[in-house]
Amino acid sequence: MMRFIRRCNKLHLNLDKQKYFAQSVRLLSTLNCSRTATKFNLHQHSSSRKNGTNSTQQLPTEADVVVIGGGSIGCSTTYHLAKYGAGKVALLEKDKLTAGTTWHTAGLLWRAVPHEFEMKIVDDTRTLMTTILPQETDSETGWIQTGGLFTANDQTRLDSYKRMATLAKVFGIETHILSAAEIPQVHHLLDSSKYVGALYNPLDGTMDPTGACTSYTKAAAKYGAQIFEGCGVEGIDTRLDDFGIQRVSAVKTSRGSIKTGQVINCAGVWAPNISQMVHIAIPQVTYRHAYVVTEPIEGARHLPNVRDHDGSVYMKRQGDTLQVGGYEANPIFCKEVADDFAFGLYTLDWDVFGRHLAIACDAMPIIAKTGIRSTICGPESFTPDKQPLCGESPKVRGFFFASGFNSGGMMLGGGGGKQIALWALRGKPEIDMFPWDIRRFPSSLVTNKTWLTERSHETYSKHYCMSFPHDQPLAGRNMRKDALHQVLLDRGCFYEEKHGWERPAYFTDGPKAEVKKYDFYGAYDNKIHQDYQYKTLLNHEYSYRYPGPVHEAISKECVTCRTSCAVFNSSSLGKLVLEGPDATKAAKLLFSSDVTANPNCNTSTYTLMLNDKGGIESDLVVCKMDTGDHDFDYYMTVGGATTEYCKGHISDVLSTSGLNYNVKDRTEELATLSLQGPKSRAVLKELITGDVTKSLQFGHFALSNIVGINVGILRRSFVGELGYEVSCESQHAVKVYEAIMGVAKKHGGRDAGYRAMESLSIEAGFHHWGHSVRTDDSPLESRLLHLCNNDRHYHGSAAVAEMRGQRPKKSLAFFTVDDQVQLFGEEIIWRDGKVVGFTRNGVHAFNINKGVGMGYVDIPENDKSNVDDYLLGGKYEIERNFVKHRANVYLNSPFDPKRLRVRGLFKST
Ligand SMILES: Cc1cc2nc3c(=O)[nH]c(=O)nc-3n(C[C@H](O)[C@H](O)[C@H](O)COP(=O)(O)OP(=O)(O)OC[C@H]3O[C@@H](n4cnc5c(N)ncnc54)[C@H](O)[C@@H]3O)c2cc1C
Repeated sequence: MMRFIRRCNKLHLNLDKQKYFAQSVRLLSTLNCSRTATKFNLHQHSSSRKNGTNSTQQLPTEADVVVIGGGSIGCSTTYHLAKYGAGKVALLEKDKLTAGTTWHTAGLLWRAVPHEFEMKIVDDTRTLMTTILPQETDSETGWIQTGGLFTANDQTRLDSYKRMATLAKVFGIETHILSAAEIPQVHHLLDSSKYVGALYNPLDGTMDPTGACTSYTKAAAKYGAQIFEGCGVEGIDTRLDDFGIQRVSAVKTSRGSIKTGQVINCAGVWAPNISQMVHIAIPQVTYRHAYVVTEPIEGARHLPNVRDHDGSVYMKRQGDTLQVGGYEANPIFCKEVADDFAFGLYTLDWDVFGRHLAIACDAMPIIAKTGIRSTICGPESFTPDKQPLCGESPKVRGFFFASGFNSGGMMLGGGGGKQIALWALRGKPEIDMFPWDIRRFPSSLVTNKTWLTERSHETYSKHYCMSFPHDQPLAGRNMRKDALHQVLLDRGCFYEEKHGWERPAYFTDGPKAEVKKYDFYGAYDNKIHQDYQYKTLLNHEYSYRYPGPVHEAISKECVTCRTSCAVFNSSSLGKLVLEGPDATKAAKLLFSSDVTANPNCNTSTYTLMLNDKGGIESDLVVCKMDTGDHDFDYYMTVGGATTEYCKGHISDVLSTSGLNYNVKDRTEELATLSLQGPKSRAVLKELITGDVTKSLQFGHFALSNIVGINVGILRRSFVGELGYEVSCESQHAVKVYEAIMGVAKKHGGRDAGYRAMESLSIEAGFHHWGHSVRTDDSPLESRLLHLCNNDRHYHGSAAVAEMRGQRPKKSLAFFTVDDQVQLFGEEIIWRDGKVVGFTRNGVHAFNINKGVGMGYVDIPENDKSNVDDYLLGGKYEIERNFVKHRANVYLNSPFDPKRLRVRGLFKST
């Protein structure tokens, strides 16, 4: 075991202190599973009508929604459905409530989490536990406010805490950064000499699984939900509706069938089995996850819970004892969890778990002198990106996913259940939930076992690693490579992964940075890669400092693009074609601007797809194409990571329209090279026959030929430059690339990647879906109302009509900071001394040599001034890692605000 641990210590600390525990480990390994199980049966949920359950009652014949699974997620979702008026709601649990993973949870709730939307979700859970449910049920949820302490072994870790703590201010979450000397004031048993400091969150705490689920179901029953235990789901019926759409029609159980149009799969580790009932595979695996409980420790009762991220362990107080658990580099994969595994436990494997105790002893020496009372090891579901699987299936309507909670299903359960319920009830959660949406994965990877195994292993073992903005997985790579992959790799390309695609991040002059076959960080007897250039470069980026290690490389690409030209391989962008006899009618319905109106073909429009609340589902470029025979085709270019999502949205909007259309995904067939910069026209002119560059106006498309290969050329820019997107069949991509690059080089051009593209496009004030615009932003708030027609019907037009003339609740603005600091997004925006929002994205803009951020500013209801005047009237600061920087505000990007460069006008910018 020690050999293995040393091999893995890139992920975890050196574990020499392991010997402290050799004796306890030997002793403990003799404990058997049934003994520990008996002990912890105390936690089992005692069913009774008081808890809202109906174990023996007859099932209803019909329900509006059926929730499958009575764990943290199912109980919370049922409660919220019933509360928000979903009608007849039935929760079906095959055994007893909490019998799956929930009963043996450690129940830790940490309010400081890396991402803004999860902060809100966790906070909602906490409010349910501390306030809402006790009021609604007249009983306690078992919540214990312990406080939470995150220790930091080095300055980078402390910086990552400062980053979270800064964002926490936006949500009013109290946090304190402690020096090492201050740690004993909140935790006297930790060896504080090991740390450089800590993050202390006094209002963190612990949830009780039984108490929480009892409260959810008790309150749900009050709102009319019915909860059935001992009622296993055995099958799900579907039907084809009049439009040929497959829909859920009934749930078959051991106690009869229930007719229903909506099912929510909250079956935890059994969720893949439930999904199989409608023939859908989901990217979820099960690992054993464990903690141990010590004998009583004097003084433990008043300690805060501790997360030692660098050691990948936690220490939670439980009465007078401590629970110690963690995330190892070699977790045990469970191929299958038996159907009757209820309130079950696995025997703990000390070879796997021992490292956690060694580290806990190091952190808190008293543990080394204390015995272990019991062990808890249960199954938990994990996903390829540490985020749950939620949302409606695009294949079987009415079938919703709600599983894969990556050992956070207690703290995410309350707020998460609320969003899942709203999703089913209103078609959309109230906050942007794309990171949890099942459609974030490309369908081609969901059934790929290698990808799933590797990625879920990496996310498990890196669970406590810092969240760096430019981190990349080493697992599950090279799954989708475009035709230029090898050529660009040989030219120094450092790749990043998006939607399964390998896409250029930036180019280096150093040794080739190939992504190697995943070595599981040496786990499971795999040989760990030596001299791994890709990993070395990645490790250099594990900091928040300015300038970052690739600052110079990206600077060269950005400056070259603005002074000469750069060639971006944009082949991973989603390329969808809307075609068929009713394509024009479909386009009128889908897009916020009338992309069909221009009588000329081969013209493109930047437009939006909206949901019925007016939220932005996508910002995209649509080109009207002449097919020669039937209706026009509409060629859509969408963000690479959102291709599946956009297909889902199009199907949501059009599937019941009765229109005859088809959406063809041409992403893999076509390669796209984006030639951008003031010299791009001159470069293209040397390559094509006939001077199409002259006639090609901004937004126009033409067919042409480069080195004998047919290409399509669209004059467009994602980076605010004179530029052209050249597309050809993938098989010819290398030839076309070499021809373009050959001429570009003569003009001083170079290769560039997505890191430069991101910087250039934010510098130029372009939007990025998922960041500056999302489903919970309206065109009014994001200053994109001009992309929405006001005289015709399209999806979301009613909501747009309502917002016209209204004051937005928030408004998008641009900020620059004068100090040389790196902005990443999720920094705080202060206006006249008050927190008014946070940045959605941030970059260093090389051509103005400043940090630039985009973010929404809250607009006060009582302020009657013009919104633009309000925005420009304040004094702003951007706070990053607890330091405020003076900031300037703009309505448009300060770089080329009139967008002259895309028109080929350079002098005045
Ligand atoms: C050791 C350990 C420690 C943890 N610590 C924490 C922590 O500190 N904080 C935190 O937030 N999270 C923690 N977690 C994770 C958390 O406990 C889980 O994410 C959460 O309990 C999952 O809830 P769930 O509702 O998705 O699944 P489950 O609790 O497993 O519920 C699924 C339910 O579905 C039922 N079911 C399955 N099939 C059927 C069927 N066919 N018909 C009807 N019912 C069915 C099952 O019986 C089960 O009750 C921990 C997990 C483990 C293993």
